[in-house]
Amino acid sequence: MSDEAVAAAWAREDLEALSERGLRRYLEPLDSPQGPVVRVGDETLVNFSSNDYLGLASSPTVRAAALAAVERYGVGTGASRLVVGDTAAHHRLEARLAAFERAEAVRLFNSGYAANTGIIPALVGPGDAVFSDALNHASLVDGCRLSRARVCVYPHADVEALERALAQTPARRKLVVTDTVFSMDGDVAPLRDIATACRAHGAALMVDEAHATGVLGHRGAGLCEELGLEGQVDLRMGTLGKALGVMGAYVATSRAVADLLVSRARPFVFSTALPAHLCAAAEAAVDAVEGDPDLRARLWRNIRRFADGLRVLGVRAEPRSAVFPLILGEPGRALDAARRLREAGVLVKAIRPPTVPEGTSRLRFCLSAAHTVGHVDLALEALRTVGVRRGPD
Ligand code: PMP
Repeated sequence: MSDEAVAAAWAREDLEALSERGLRRYLEPLDSPQGPVVRVGDETLVNFSSNDYLGLASSPTVRAAALAAVERYGVGTGASRLVVGDTAAHHRLEARLAAFERAEAVRLFNSGYAANTGIIPALVGPGDAVFSDALNHASLVDGCRLSRARVCVYPHADVEALERALAQTPARRKLVVTDTVFSMDGDVAPLRDIATACRAHGAALMVDEAHATGVLGHRGAGLCEELGLEGQVDLRMGTLGKALGVMGAYVATSRAVADLLVSRARPFVFSTALPAHLCAAAEAAVDAVEGDPDLRARLWRNIRRFADGLRVLGVRAEPRSAVFPLILGEPGRALDAARRLREAGVLVKAIRPPTVPEGTSRLRFCLSAAHTVGHVDLALEALRTVGVRRGPD
């Protein structure tokens, strides 16, 4: 047997096991731009699974900025930033994001996954300890593992447990990492108390604002801005692929950390630079977030309407972010609910392990500023008519 046949046999065995447990995934290409209404094959569906929270992915100004930069820089960067992939567009975006985040410095990454797996190992290693919320995003989990520091996972949002772990764990350096908005539950970390605990124990704090940037805060800069904690958080990571509608990620931090990442963060050092037109597009998106507070007002109108409607349906719903989970239990229940909602014109994907813990498969609704009131009501009406009920918690 060739090597290819050996690997194919492994893959078939694993695919069968995944299918049996309702955990096999399939790709499904869209035939339209990202937006509140999308085309999938011959279906037209109202989209409740996108992280394009402000509808900027198809915004005319963001598109125009990207097109102008393609004319100027072409489409590829040809090398990492440390070789010849660096352009003025990267530096402009870093400066723009530093102003937006009121930070001393910003460093760009190609994705949130690359940022989290690059930053943590750049700061801590063997002999150090990293403290991570049990529901942190997989990219933070992987960053912790890659660092080879001791990893202490504390129960979700449990600051007392975090404090105990910080007090009892001997380590050269201590780093606490947490999502601010948890991606699959939409709840918010008790960040003020976490920051206080870090100060008390001399720990550094890194937060992942992937689902908060553009959504929370008076200027849309995230939970740290909302709580006035910018100065108490050592590293604030944000993504460019969600509310900002583009792709990539950044960390707002001190000049020293931003400088260290250039030499130390492996995804920064060893990966081709983000295309310049994506930097230009992201810059236009940041301008839109800061310059058009109406975008956020529309998003929050939709969030509140959806939460109110869920409560009428008997579902407990906290309007704390644009993410609403409807926990149904086993994967089959979530898949079945997603199929029935889709027949009613609503696209909402079933989220299953390992993305969420076993027994908590769910529908995850994401609201957008681009949804009309009619779209929100369609989802609520579909939930009512197909009779989707929250399952075991
Ligand atoms: N952090 C969180 C909390 C996320 O939800 C995601 C995206 N799913 C990421 C990081 C990774 O970001 P990206 O998609 O840019 O790799």
